[in-house]
Amino acid sequence: MNEYDSLRVQRILSARGYETTETLERADVIFINTCSVREKAEQKVQSFVGRLRKLKSRKPSLKIIVAGCVAQQLGEKLTEKFDHLDLVVGTRGVGAVGDLLDQHERNPRQQVHLPEDAPEDTFQEQDLPGKLSSKVTAPVTIMQGCNNFCTYCIVPYVRGRERSRSPGRILSEIQALERSGVREVLLLGQNVNSYGKGLTENTSFVDLLRRIQKETRLLRLRFTTSHPKDLTQELMEAFAELPMLCKNLHLPFQSGSDRILDTMNRKYTSSDYLKKIDQLRTICPDMGLSSDVMVGFPGETERDFEDTLQLIETVRFDNLFSFQYSDRPLTQSNGFSHKISREVKGRRLTHLQALQAQITFEKNLSQTGTLQKVLVEGESRSGQGQITGKTEQNRAVNFCGSLSEVGKLVTVEIREAFSHSLKGRLVS
Ligand code: SAH
Ligand code: SF4
Repeated sequence: MNEYDSLRVQRILSARGYETTETLERADVIFINTCSVREKAEQKVQSFVGRLRKLKSRKPSLKIIVAGCVAQQLGEKLTEKFDHLDLVVGTRGVGAVGDLLDQHERNPRQQVHLPEDAPEDTFQEQDLPGKLSSKVTAPVTIMQGCNNFCTYCIVPYVRGRERSRSPGRILSEIQALERSGVREVLLLGQNVNSYGKGLTENTSFVDLLRRIQKETRLLRLRFTTSHPKDLTQELMEAFAELPMLCKNLHLPFQSGSDRILDTMNRKYTSSDYLKKIDQLRTICPDMGLSSDVMVGFPGETERDFEDTLQLIETVRFDNLFSFQYSDRPLTQSNGFSHKISREVKGRRLTHLQALQAQITFEKNLSQTGTLQKVLVEGESRSGQGQITGKTEQNRAVNFCGSLSEVGKLVTVEIREAFSHSLKGRLVS
């Protein structure tokens, strides 16, 4: 979602004549988009902004903007702490960055802009210059905010209540991206299953997927994130029904212990979760699955942690994003007792990641000898005439080929497996 917001800002600024630079020293504006979901991300922002003080004193015309969740969370505390900061822009103010910069030109003083709500949408194709994207895949936000209030999570506080964008706006944005050469879209929302609630027109997430299938010519469609408690039979069946929808699902489980899931306010048990995975695999046996999990939630015992490991071994995810729990301001779990020590969290995370690394590698190995449809994204990082793309299940594949394949779906025979990627041979 931050990537999407940063792209929007990039477009707004390029409409005003700015270009992007790889070198901080050359920048006239430094725009820092921020995440506050875990403590570490917030610390990184603060130390980065601190390091920019010297640069600003050498070049007083430089404008420094902090936007996004940390901006929303800390507001004036940021301008007080960092007097070299020009603008602090909250999560619902990102679309106004251009106007805020203009105002700042006229009246250069520190400003904190944290609007309660944004106009539904600031995407206006006619206001934007040239290509909307230089990439084959692009994110598109379909909703903002979250109403779930998992006890550990800061998102509902910094991104606000759930609000859906209208299907018409989403479709016109996707169609504009298509005209720029985008072939795959990733729909974004904290809980896509509740898409459509609160809109005047009667619509649902599956309706939106069906309209995208019908009214665009994308090669691939993906979405994230789905909450296990709201994953419906209808959405599971959409994977079989809609050809452009990739058979790949990110379904965060967070913990394998029912006791912990309850104190997290997740509203499902581990057996509810496993049942949904079974249903999905009945509908699509080759479904790619990824998830999020946390270790060291307050009160997590060795037994709870073993339940988490057990769930990982049962499901065998293709990919897993794993985190150490960290206290976040405003959240309920911040006030929970029985916090887990840093050492225990570290040990549990290392153990869990070793187990998942083995599973990911074995799953990659099982791909060797198969034919996979790959959407080519560009040159491989290794260079050497290699190009790269993703399989439907989101595995990275590198193979020899020409850049004229970029944006096409090609068939690749998988020859070799590594921990994080596959190597193959172009078949057609
Ligand atoms: N809306 C998504 C997740 C958003 S946050 C969902 O409901 O699944 C992304 C991930 O960050 C979460 O899935 C969780 O695993 C992790 N996370 C959130 N808050 C955290 C915290 N306080 N400490 C550690 N990890 C956290
Ligand atoms: Fe956070 Fe839970 Fe909402 Fe996801 S569903 S954003 S974890 S509160």
